[in-house]
Amino acid sequence: MNWKYALCEPNLDQAEISAAVECISSAWLSMGPRTRAFEEAFAELHGCKHAIAVSSGTAALHLAMLALDIGQSADDEVIQPSINFVAAANMTKAVGARPVFADIVSLTEPTIDPEKIELAITEKTRAIVVMHYGGYACRMNEIVALCKKYNLHLIEDACHAPATPAPDNTGQMLGAIGDIGCFSFFSNKNMTCGEGGMIVTDNDALAKRMRALRSHGMTTLSWERHKGRASTYDVTTHGFNYRIDDLRSAIGLVQLGKLPAANAARQAHAKRYAEAIARHARSDISYLFGKAPTAGSAHVAGIIVPANKRDRVRQGMSDVGIQSSLHYPCVHHFSGFGAEGHGADLRLSEVFSNQMITLPLYPTMPEEAGEEIVSAIVRCLDNPSTTPKTT
Ligand SMILES: *Cc1c(COP(=O)(O)O)cnc(C)c1O
Repeated sequence: MNWKYALCEPNLDQAEISAAVECISSAWLSMGPRTRAFEEAFAELHGCKHAIAVSSGTAALHLAMLALDIGQSADDEVIQPSINFVAAANMTKAVGARPVFADIVSLTEPTIDPEKIELAITEKTRAIVVMHYGGYACRMNEIVALCKKYNLHLIEDACHAPATPAPDNTGQMLGAIGDIGCFSFFSNKNMTCGEGGMIVTDNDALAKRMRALRSHGMTTLSWERHKGRASTYDVTTHGFNYRIDDLRSAIGLVQLGKLPAANAARQAHAKRYAEAIARHARSDISYLFGKAPTAGSAHVAGIIVPANKRDRVRQGMSDVGIQSSLHYPCVHHFSGFGAEGHGADLRLSEVFSNQMITLPLYPTMPEEAGEEIVSAIVRCLDNPSTTPKTT
């Protein structure tokens, strides 16, 4: 499909190409000095003591849960949103714990509701995973207070929110508030190196464990042996190969440098979307986080439309070359999670996933795109006769 407006476009140029070529020319491609530099720059930007680069955001979540000993006992529960990419729920299962889903605050603030979290806390609850939807902060003050009150670990799925200050002027960055923060560098994220992820923490012991688990529990790395700093290794724990490589870290370093400007460009587009929708002044379309579209990293531009028109609107958009998506279907509705979420009131999450549409958003999008896309959507809403195609 040749989209006029694709959902996202990569923000790559000669700088990433040069960094990759330079890494290849150096003849050291696996994890080494560029990864160390990438980690240091990431930690610095997020105000954290430790940053650990890994092979994906999913690997980051897995190591976070293992480091916090989640799943040590068979009935451990992890409270998390159902409106999320499936990674956090899958990693909860992978460590042998049970995901317990809590509902969202509202249709236009689709982050986990602290009141619903508190209702879901039991003797078995070990941790809370929050997800800063679209790069907009969860209600962290209340959630941090709950973690203190009930002695729970806090993991931030900050995959949408790199280089994003918390909106409450505490000076903290999203991902750096809880015990451990997890980021992804998959191609559609605000910064990318193809596949990759990062874990941040201020806790020395957790960082040490996650570094060990990243690389088979080995006490030295190939790079150190190559440099003659070590000649052998011990294995202290049963880990994985969740390493990133220097080729990706070289690209990641360039992307990290571009991130503040890229996030600002995204925020400007989010603001234009919100303003265009406000100008139409209709009750059948609202913009997510529309009250403060620049308060987050604007990873996702999303709208809410009536459920009975949603799929026809998406088809109408596709007919005029505008790609759309859905962030996200409810995790508790996936067949692999059939037994989870039962009993919990997830009504808002369910309504949200029936009414939500993800719109194109990327830093290099033309300025007029927001108004053009919103006008096309409004035409689709007013012309419900179009029949959805099945292909
Ligand atoms: C992308 C993403 C992940 C998973 O990251 P990968 O790098 O694809 O493994 C997890 N959570 C959220 C919210 C994401 O957007």
